[in-house]
Amino acid sequence: MICKELLHENLGVKGNNLTFAGYDTVELAKKYGTPLMLLDENKIRNTMRTYKNAMQKYFGENSLPLYASKALSFVGIYQIAKEEGINTDIVSLGELCTAIKAGFPLERAFFHGNSKTDYDIEFAIDNGIGFFNVDTQDELYAIDRIAKEKGICQKILLRITPGIDPHTHAAISTGKVDSKFGTAIETGQAMEITRLALSLENIDLRGFHCHIGSQIFEIEPFCDAADIMVKFIDQVKLETGFEAEYLNLGGGFGVRYVESDPHIDYTDNIRRIAEHINAYCQENGLHMPKILMEPGRSMVADSGMTIYTVGSVKEIPGYKNYVAIDGGMSDNPRYALYGSQYTVLCANKMNENADYECTIAGRLCESGDLIQENVKIPKVSRGDNIAVLVTGAYNYAMASNYNRLPRPAVVLLGKTDRIAIRRETYEDVCRLDEIL
Ligand SMILES: *Cc1c(COP(=O)(O)O)cnc(C)c1O
Repeated sequence: MICKELLHENLGVKGNNLTFAGYDTVELAKKYGTPLMLLDENKIRNTMRTYKNAMQKYFGENSLPLYASKALSFVGIYQIAKEEGINTDIVSLGELCTAIKAGFPLERAFFHGNSKTDYDIEFAIDNGIGFFNVDTQDELYAIDRIAKEKGICQKILLRITPGIDPHTHAAISTGKVDSKFGTAIETGQAMEITRLALSLENIDLRGFHCHIGSQIFEIEPFCDAADIMVKFIDQVKLETGFEAEYLNLGGGFGVRYVESDPHIDYTDNIRRIAEHINAYCQENGLHMPKILMEPGRSMVADSGMTIYTVGSVKEIPGYKNYVAIDGGMSDNPRYALYGSQYTVLCANKMNENADYECTIAGRLCESGDLIQENVKIPKVSRGDNIAVLVTGAYNYAMASNYNRLPRPAVVLLGKTDRIAIRRETYEDVCRLDEIL
């Protein structure tokens, strides 16, 4: 029996076929074509609720998750976030305009990024953005100037790098002093930019933000970062009298991509982090600010799956077997970029032995275009369906038209199955080109 334990509870088997969110993936592949991205709507909603409920329970009523929408941005996801009553992070005007199209209330959106243009800032202010997460002094001056022109006082958080040692926690790469993001406490620059923000007339500083990295399974790095930030907030109060209303702890909770990854209970993680911060604040006589978190990956990754069709099988005696599919790095560049691990199944042979070792190769003209190396699936041939699990985050969001491939359709599986993003046509692929 192959179907030992399936990675997540939204997976199942019906006959020989893999089911996802209760739907037969092979039938969906027939109906919508491949490559096809599937999204489990109930799971997305449940995860948003889990975060919201846990944060309000353990951090207090004013605490809220912001969906870091760079993980997967399309009109429907902002509609879902709006309906579930959570806030969102955006990192570009493209994401902002997608949120506007969804009718997402922009006063509940936070605008991130380390190099926002004047146009970005103006456009966001004109459309009533809630907060900017400010990265640098240059940006702070620009927002102050533009806010003055518009006659408003703009709410902001300052992005701070807490200086967590990356050697202690290998997964962490954005919270160290040497980072393109944020302003470091260690160098004194964080205090400097705080004083500057407080001195600018059209800036309304509301608190601080940090984001220490991604795909983090332990809670210790978050607790360490929180300690440093809470201490910093206290220092700011001592030196300037300013009391931060918000502390945003960023995103970064890990996701189970393969069997060897642990199961994570987000509610329990939040409870433990909250207990830690509460205890730390009490011990040190510090005030606990309103806590925000920005989950991206963990909100959508395991609600996604990609279905492909096998185009060819190539066996090189003495070397290895290649199973080539009808998609690749144009819809999922994460193996090519980071060597990311994925679980691969043959969606229409779920009851066959997974004893055929092979490399899943994409169809693009690039030898690095692989989805996963040395996986075990049943022996497949042209026409079989390959399922790559846990592709909801940073897959479609990173998709491109490399090799002029149209981007896949995204189908939302809820009470019914419906298209959330239609498949690009060849007309779409050439739509910006002028005939010379
Ligand atoms: C990418 C990012 C997130 C989301 O991170 P995940 O690991 O996907 O949860 C949150 N905040 C900031 C500032 C980010 O850059």
